[in-house]
Amino acid sequence: MAADCLFCRIIGGGIPAAKLHEDALCVAIADIAPKAPVHLLVLPKEHFSGAPEITAPREALVGHLVKVAADLARERGLEPDGYRIVLNSGAHGGQTVFHLHVHLLGGRPFAEMG
Ligand code: AMP
Ligand code: ZN
Repeated sequence: MAADCLFCRIIGGGIPAAKLHEDALCVAIADIAPKAPVHLLVLPKEHFSGAPEITAPREALVGHLVKVAADLARERGLEPDGYRIVLNSGAHGGQTVFHLHVHLLGGRPFAEMG
């Protein structure tokens, strides 16, 4: 928990947000500025800033975040058409919140990267 971190405050309940999924390791919320008809964020309860902090002990956790995103995609009926799972890192990656998170985007095609 980092006191000055937006996502830690959401996870801790200090900032209200509907939790669409919660388990021992993570929480899923709707993105406040959706870029697609379905745009969810999967947040680990452990605070760490992003992909460069994915150390070996966190490999299983990050795999779990991706699995939860895929499970949510299935639950929301996105499987037939497909969807995108994204993890932005750093300035060039477009990361704006420095608490690692996985985006699930679906409900429209994503034709190209970049
Ligand atoms: P990134 O640019 O990968 O760091 O993604 C951060 C995401 O957090 C953006 O898509 C924002 O729209 C989203 N976001 C920012 N503030 C909130 C909030 N209070 N609740 C939900 N999503 C948020
Ligand atoms: Zn945090």
